[in-house]
Amino acid sequence: MKETTVLVTGGAGFIGSHLCERLLIDGFRVVNIDNFNDYYSPESKRHNILNALKNPNYRLCEGDIRDKDFLDKTFSDDQPDIVVHLAAMAGVQPSLENPKIYYDVNVMGSLQLLTCCAEHAVSKFVFASSSSVYGNNQTPFKESDNTDNSISPYASTKKAGEVLCHVFHSINGMSVHCLRFFTVVGPRQRPDLAVHKFVKAITNHEAIELRGDATSSRDYTSVYDTIDGIRGSISRLQKISEPEYNIYNLGNSYPVTLDDMLQTIETVLDRKAQVKQVEFMQGDVFSTYADISLAKSELGYSPMRSFQEAVENFVEWFVEHD
Ligand code: NAD
Repeated sequence: MKETTVLVTGGAGFIGSHLCERLLIDGFRVVNIDNFNDYYSPESKRHNILNALKNPNYRLCEGDIRDKDFLDKTFSDDQPDIVVHLAAMAGVQPSLENPKIYYDVNVMGSLQLLTCCAEHAVSKFVFASSSSVYGNNQTPFKESDNTDNSISPYASTKKAGEVLCHVFHSINGMSVHCLRFFTVVGPRQRPDLAVHKFVKAITNHEAIELRGDATSSRDYTSVYDTIDGIRGSISRLQKISEPEYNIYNLGNSYPVTLDDMLQTIETVLDRKAQVKQVEFMQGDVFSTYADISLAKSELGYSPMRSFQEAVENFVEWFVEHD
């Protein structure tokens, strides 16, 4: 029997590189599309995939999801069964400065990819969405909440991606899971995310910038739990007989305040931070907190790692790689 091929976009990035490794362990053939953009160091992304490259079931296709000819060729050559679409311009603050590139990659790129899936009869699609679509809604966030309240261009592109996915579900009978990730923490975490920035600054005896009064909070999730959630989604897509369009929160359901986040990092590093107080940034939501009951019941999702464990995993990697 032909093994299942999963095409992962953004497979050299933080979450994508972990996902590719996990899928290889689980016996899938994996095709990674990544353009190694310079949002952060392309060298670190090349480093992320060194292990995967040794596996004969792994293929790297370097290119851009906005390039339809490239996508067509990759789909013809590799005939994926399932697409997990992680490639994106991520990050809230830079989207305020350059919304156009966010729309170009996250919306137009997603449209190209979905079109390619429809043309090549790929009917199972996982889309990386984000907790940011909830804006400043009341917590805990449920998938059924109103998400017309984006407060950053980034969030609005993720919402647009979810809506586009629904169109392809409706017209092409595609099965789609939109997974709303909640601030993911662990080895290879992007350098623009707070845990990475704080660990780096404290290690280098530099001051960290603490936004607002430190009572804001995030539902930090270990990258290994996020990957378990994506695996649950793939397993469900493999089993279902009727097309479905579902949205799932993949959080930890255990929000941590900025103050507690800093204290945990100080404990793990056994070093005190020098703190510079700065204003809370426009575009950032105040709190995130996932209701994960739907992912628990339908994907078998059950996050097991604490925030401290996720920070410890990150620091182990950071010490070795930075
Ligand atoms: P990342 O930046 O580490 O990974 C994204 C990858 O996509 C990178 O390797 C990049 O080179 C690639 N890429 C970007 N544009 C591309 C294009 N046009 N063509 C081909 N490849 C392209 O980001 P991440 O943190 O791993 O996030 C993965 C996904 O999860 C993103 O869609 C992000 O929006 C979403 N997400 C992440 C988090 C988080 O906490 N990390 C939270 C919510 C949602």
